[in-house]
Amino acid sequence: MQNTQKIITRFAPSPTGFLHIGGARTALFNYLFAKHHGGAFKLRIEDTDRERSTPEAVAAILEGLTWLGLEWDGEAVSQYDNAPRHHAVVDELIARGKAFKCYCSPDEVEALRETAFAEGRALRSPWRDRDPSEAPADAPYVVRFRASDEGVTLHDAVQGEVKWAAKEFDDLVLLRADGNPTYNLAVVVDDHDMGVTHIIRGDDHLVNGARQAQIYAALDWDLPQFAHIPLIHGPDGKKLSKRHGALGVEAYRDMGYLPEGMRNYLLRLGWAHGDQELFSDDEMVQAFSLSGLNKAPGRLDFDKMAHVNAHHMRLADDQRLFDLLMAHLADRDDLRLDEITKAWVLRAMPILKARAKTIPELADQAEFMLKPRPFVLTGKLAKPLQDDGAQRMARLRAVFADHQDWSEDALSEALKTFAEAEEVGFGKIGQPLRACLTGGSPAPDMGIVLAILGQDETLARLDDQLNSSPGTGQ
Ligand code: GLU
Repeated sequence: MQNTQKIITRFAPSPTGFLHIGGARTALFNYLFAKHHGGAFKLRIEDTDRERSTPEAVAAILEGLTWLGLEWDGEAVSQYDNAPRHHAVVDELIARGKAFKCYCSPDEVEALRETAFAEGRALRSPWRDRDPSEAPADAPYVVRFRASDEGVTLHDAVQGEVKWAAKEFDDLVLLRADGNPTYNLAVVVDDHDMGVTHIIRGDDHLVNGARQAQIYAALDWDLPQFAHIPLIHGPDGKKLSKRHGALGVEAYRDMGYLPEGMRNYLLRLGWAHGDQELFSDDEMVQAFSLSGLNKAPGRLDFDKMAHVNAHHMRLADDQRLFDLLMAHLADRDDLRLDEITKAWVLRAMPILKARAKTIPELADQAEFMLKPRPFVLTGKLAKPLQDDGAQRMARLRAVFADHQDWSEDALSEALKTFAEAEEVGFGKIGQPLRACLTGGSPAPDMGIVLAILGQDETLARLDDQLNSSPGTGQ
């Protein structure tokens, strides 16, 4: 029979207060795998730790995923809400003889653990084989899984075939003494109930995969395909930690990366498709496969992230970038932000965005339009206006005052003609003019700057400097 099973993946974060960049990459891989196969990408919030799972912590995850553009299918599932179902499955495991109530006190467990360790084997509860009628009345108990005595072999899409000996697996607690299900039980039940067929997650869960496989087998449930990916490392090659800063995706949003830039960068951080670096969303979905997942950990590389983002900045819609830029500048009361300057910025966007890797860099590129006049030129900036520089600018002002065609090409041509007439190299014109028009901020070619600012503003900016320079006669 042909395999027509629908592919279902999931992302199952525990709410920690933010969407970790590693989690974001895991979510992306699961999302892309599902989309590639026309399947579904589901979201489950592992919110059984009631103290940490505040509404804010959950909202931070949802916001992070939404910002990154990883829309999940259907409602987000709350693991906590599934507790009754987890209990029912524990009962089923007990009925099948695959789990049992263990009445050992914490001290007894400690002693058993020490003996097991000394004998080089895993912890086995004496209640495995005891008659439940021997149970002390009203004594607290945990429910333990009857661990396999045969060891486990996992066929992982990234790690290959991985084997564990039976001595690696204790009789795992499935239900705690307070009645709360443990992670490995809840995950198996939820993944099964959500129809999950493929699980891509960090390799810190690899051994959990082996524990979970035993539970699947005990329930005669189909085991999903696991793909355990290496965790992201920091630029120094060490495992990513607080020390590296910027752990949450919102930090990258605030640093002015675009979600599509982040998607592209995260995709390449642990997955390869030949040597292709840059991917559109469609290309990602088309190309994604488990076989491209790397076995070696990816290292965060901020230069590369910026390079990838720059590509997506160039492709981004002008109005969208403008809106992001305005949001970024919202509390900059040192800038002139009015209808006129905003129109300049929007008009200049095709040029500005080609010169900026992030939104803050876009702000740097736009600054020459937004800085309030008059500019105070000192030091190196004032120098080109000394000697005959100011007089030359006064003559150029006269040319501009009469100039009709205020297009970039015509203005560039006019500057060339002026330089010829003055019998000087272009630098003698460009430097003082740039100082007058931009106040030293980064800016594109002078023809473009002139065209964007328009005639009135150009003349006004020249006048600012000419009136303040001694010896111009103005
Ligand atoms: N909630 C787990 C975590 O955040 C993930 C569990 C899983 O993917 O199976 O690490």
